[in-house]
Amino acid sequence: MAKRRLVLTFPPKLVEEPITYRLIKDYDLVVNILRAKISPEEEGRLMIELSGEKSALKRGVDYLNRLKVNIQPLARDIRWLEEKCTHCTVCVSLCPTEAIVVDRNSMKISFNKNKCIACGACIPACPYKAIEILF
Ligand code: SF4
Ligand code: SF4
Repeated sequence: MAKRRLVLTFPPKLVEEPITYRLIKDYDLVVNILRAKISPEEEGRLMIELSGEKSALKRGVDYLNRLKVNIQPLARDIRWLEEKCTHCTVCVSLCPTEAIVVDRNSMKISFNKNKCIACGACIPACPYKAIEILF
């Protein structure tokens, strides 16, 4: 089973298109919607996690490309601003995926974008606004 976390941006004419339904039904993918911003007359944005066989993922992404949906890896929309971080570790226990971990020797945190599911739990907790989700 492979996974990809993506941010999809699509024009108004595709807002009504049952994209997630097709990904599930026609491409045999599990679709987990992490965030969504959709309004009928504006551009839509979906932050999703797709899971399935590698070949199914490829076919699903090909389908999105054919629709001319803009696809970006989710990691681009999540930022840890290291220069603002004081390594206070407040966020560490809040992170459900261990995207933020602390090195017990140095007591410094590190951030792994690829583990982040953009749940947002760390954002209000950070006193220094050192984590951003650009969505
Ligand atoms: S947004 Fe959620 S998953 Fe990502 S680093 Fe923050 S708490 Fe962890
Ligand atoms: S809560 Fe903010 S300042 Fe504290 S360790 Fe996490 S990212 Fe750094």
